[in-house]
Amino acid sequence: MRRGICPKCSHATVYSGQDLATQASNGSSIPIDFRHQAVLVHYVCVECGYVESYISDRSALARIYRQWPLPLANNKR
Ligand SMILES: [Zn+2]
Repeated sequence: MRRGICPKCSHATVYSGQDLATQASNGSSIPIDFRHQAVLVHYVCVECGYVESYISDRSALARIYRQWPLPLANNKR
């Protein structure tokens, strides 16, 4: 989907709010811990309305890797 192709309808009609997400932190975000949040970048298909969200901030991903547990079914780290 980040290459602009919708995985649901196969149209090349995917748009990204990447720039908005970095400029304005009032978009969607998820809490990482008590002090940090990860901003979500949305990719929207304007043909069918399908939406995917990504964290593009590598430092936020690294923080999640260090601090979050794996899901129980996959807890073999
Ligand atoms: Zn679509």
